[in-house]
Amino acid sequence: MDFLQLVELFEQLENESSGNKLREILASFFKKVPIEDISLLTYLTLGKISADYESAVLGLADKSVLKAISVAGGVESSRVKKLMQDTGDVGLVAENILKKKPRTLVPVGKLTVHELFEKLHKIVGTSGSGSQEKKTNILVSLFQKSPAKGAKYIARLALGVLRLGVAEMTVLDALSIAFTGEKDKTVLEATYNICPDVGIIAEIMATAGIKGLQKIPVKVGRPIKVMLAQRVKELDEVEVKIPGKLAVEAKYDGERVQAHKDSKGKITLFSRRMEETSAQFPDLIEYLQKQIDAKTFILEAEIIAIDSEGNHRPFQELMQRRRKHDVASYVKKIPVQAQVFDLLYLDGKVVMDKSYEERTTILRKIIKKSKNVVASAKIVTDSLDTVDEFFQEQINLGYEGIMIKSLGGVYQAGTRGWNWIKWKKDYVHDLQDSLDLVVIGAFHGKGRRHGTYGALLCAVYDSKKDQFLTVCKLGTGLTDEMLAELPKKFSIVKRCPARVVVKKEMIPDVWFVAEFVVEVRGAEITKSPFHSLGLAVRFPRFLRFRDKKPEQATTKKEVEDMV
Ligand code: ATP
Repeated sequence: MDFLQLVELFEQLENESSGNKLREILASFFKKVPIEDISLLTYLTLGKISADYESAVLGLADKSVLKAISVAGGVESSRVKKLMQDTGDVGLVAENILKKKPRTLVPVGKLTVHELFEKLHKIVGTSGSGSQEKKTNILVSLFQKSPAKGAKYIARLALGVLRLGVAEMTVLDALSIAFTGEKDKTVLEATYNICPDVGIIAEIMATAGIKGLQKIPVKVGRPIKVMLAQRVKELDEVEVKIPGKLAVEAKYDGERVQAHKDSKGKITLFSRRMEETSAQFPDLIEYLQKQIDAKTFILEAEIIAIDSEGNHRPFQELMQRRRKHDVASYVKKIPVQAQVFDLLYLDGKVVMDKSYEERTTILRKIIKKSKNVVASAKIVTDSLDTVDEFFQEQINLGYEGIMIKSLGGVYQAGTRGWNWIKWKKDYVHDLQDSLDLVVIGAFHGKGRRHGTYGALLCAVYDSKKDQFLTVCKLGTGLTDEMLAELPKKFSIVKRCPARVVVKKEMIPDVWFVAEFVVEVRGAEITKSPFHSLGLAVRFPRFLRFRDKKPEQATTKKEVEDMV
C-alpha cells in the first residue's frame, strides 16, 4: 500500500474529535486495505510498530530527528532547531522544511507502508557504536522518499508522539465494525485479554472473521492482560460480593510480574503494563528457574526488595531496580523476592479456568520455597473479624493491606472483577480524637523487626471494675530506634498481671507491668471478639509516650461513647 493512503487516513483522524467518527473512519479504512498490510497498519495508527510486549519502542532523541530533517531538507541545522523552538511540533518542522527538498536528493519510487514499517523496525534494531548516525541515515532516506505531508507523520512516529487519539480499544471497535458490522467488541476484547496484540487480531478478523478468534491460544512468551481487583467502601460489603469462605492474602507493595517459562526453558518477565522486564531482573529469572518445579509455566508474583536476611524493604528501594545500565551491581545492592500469588498456565495447559483454590493448591506444590521465591501469605476464613485481624497484622508488618479472593473464582484476564477485592489502609479514615492506652504486653517481631517487638498490646481502663481491657495491637508508627529501646524500657512479668483481662486470641509473647501510656491515633472503633473490651481500634498508630498513670488512660466508657 502506498504510504500516501496512510497519510490521508492520518489527516482525517487528526482533524476528528468525535470518538465515534474516529472508529468509523478507521473501520472503513481497515475494510479496504490489503490483508498483508492490515496488521502493520493497526500498529502504525497507534503510533507504534509492534505490540507493547515486543519492546520495539520508537522514540529517537529529538536531536537525531531534527538532524535527519536538516540533512533531508538540505538546510542548516540551526534553522531546523529554531523552527522547533517556535512550533514545538517536530511534525510541523518536518513538513515545513521538506516542502522544498533539494532535487538531487529526491530518490525515485514511492514510499510504501511496508517499507516505512521495515525501516522503522531497522531503526529500533540498530545498536552499538555509530548507531545514532545509522539511525539518522535511515530516517533521512524515509524523509526523502516521502511527500512533505507524510514527513510530518514520519517525524512524529520516530519521536513516539503520533497521538491521533487512537487507542487499542478504538482499533478493536473499528475492527469489529469493519468485519462484523457490529459495534459490540466483547469477543475481540476477550481475545485481546489473552493476546494483547491488535496486529494479530486484525489479521485474523480480516482473513477468518470473528470465528477465527476462537483459535487464538494462550501463548507462553506473550503476556496475558492481568486480572485486577475491585474495591469496597466498607469491609462488610465483602460478604455480599463473595459469599462463604474467603481467601485473604497480604497485599505487597512492590512490582507485579508475570513470568513465562517456555518449552525451551527460557523465562521471560512482563510488567503489569505488559512490557518486558527480563533485563531488569536476571536474578529473579535464575531463582524461578531453580525454585519453580515445572517444565513450562505462566505465574504471577509481586516483586519486593529484601535485605540480605530476607526482610522486606520499602517500595522506593525496589524502584532503584528500574534501570537499563549497571543492572549487575544493583542485583547485588538490592536483592529481590517474588511473592508468588497465582498460576495461569502449567506444563502445557492453561489453568486460568480452574478455581483460585485449585490454582493456588497446585502453585504451592511447585514452589520450592527459598528466601527469594515464596508463596504469598494467605489465610482462608468465613469470618470478617478474622479478615480484619489479618489486615491489621499485614499493616503492622508494613504492607499496603490485603487482597480478598473468591475461592471458587477463575482468573479473569484483563478484568477488574469481584473475584478479587482489595482492602487498603488508605481506605480507612482517622478518628477525630486520639486515645491514651496502657501497654500491657508485646508480640515478638517478624521480618525486619526480628529480635525486637513487632507490636504492643494496648488496653483501656475500666474505671468501674478497675481493670485493663485490651483494645488493639500497636505496631505502626514506632521507629526502628524506638523498637530497639523498648525491651529496656518495659518491665517484663511472667504471667498476666492482676487487673488485666485478655482473651485467649490475644495472649502476648511477653507480659509487661501496666505502667506506660501511649498516645495512639486510630482509624475506627469496631466490634471485636478478640479483644476483652469487645471493641477494637482499627489501624492504630503510635504518636508518643504520655506522662500519665495507667489509671489516667482513656476509659472503657469513653471508647464506648465513640462508637
Ligand atoms: P493499586 O494501586 O491498588 O496497586 P492497581 O490498579 O495497580 O491498584 P489493583 O487491582 O487495584 O491494581 O491491585 C492489585 C495489585 O496489587 C496487583 O496488580 C499487584 O501488583 C498487587 N498485589 C500485591 N499483592 C498481591 C496479591 N497477593 N495478589 C494480587 N495482587 C497483589
